[in-house]
Amino acid sequence: MTDRKAQLAANLAQVEERITSACAAAGRKREEVTLIVVTKTYPASDVRILHELGVRHVAENRDQDAAPKATACADLSLTWHFVGQLQTNKVRSVTGYADVVQSVDRIKLVTALSAAAVRAERELGCLIQVALDAESGERGERGGVAPDGIEELAAAVDAADGLRLDGLMTVAPLAGPFAGRQRAAFDRLMEFSTRLRAAHPAANMVSAGMSGDLEDAVAAGATHVRVGTAVLGVRPALG
Ligand SMILES: *Cc1c(COP(=O)(O)O)cnc(C)c1O
Repeated sequence: MTDRKAQLAANLAQVEERITSACAAAGRKREEVTLIVVTKTYPASDVRILHELGVRHVAENRDQDAAPKATACADLSLTWHFVGQLQTNKVRSVTGYADVVQSVDRIKLVTALSAAAVRAERELGCLIQVALDAESGERGERGGVAPDGIEELAAAVDAADGLRLDGLMTVAPLAGPFAGRQRAAFDRLMEFSTRLRAAHPAANMVSAGMSGDLEDAVAAGATHVRVGTAVLGVRPALG
């Protein structure tokens, strides 16, 4: 085993242990939580190693990095999640490799994703990104729609050709009433998920939690955690 593979295997084992403990503490089954490894800023060779180690879900946040990486790994059976703020001029590229776009936060993006998915003859999973710190009608600093815009966006995704409404995603806010209160933030997201599922029962994905707060997310009921640093190491400044 190469050094890098041994390192990633050890890190993955630690993260796995954390998820297992968090599930046990919450009285949840381990299978209820899917680990998505966020490979942004790391090379395709790491994605390949992660696949060898059993990882099946990876996430990226910038199309410029993600597109060549996905191409280099096209032979692997992986589910690619796009989790970054998405400009409409990148939508066609992202639609070429992403299976799920977790950062849907405005109608214009829904329209663009739908057109691209239809054109590519693909079905694209969509999560509505919720900005728990955003005011009505605004978007959050790190992307995401204000909570009172969830319903309208969900209806738009649901009605759009080529798109599948999968659920909700959030990034714990750094500012506002939920700053430093991840558990409360994720509990709030779960409330929105319950409301969403009343109208869209299949939209049952809840993506929340990163390296620093995955336990809070599992405790709140997240179905997907997105872990970068704890698996791959601390990223260089940008990313
Ligand atoms: C980078 C990133 C993550 C992973 O963060 P870590 O702290 O490295 O685990 C999760 N979600 C999103 C949206 C990200 O951009």
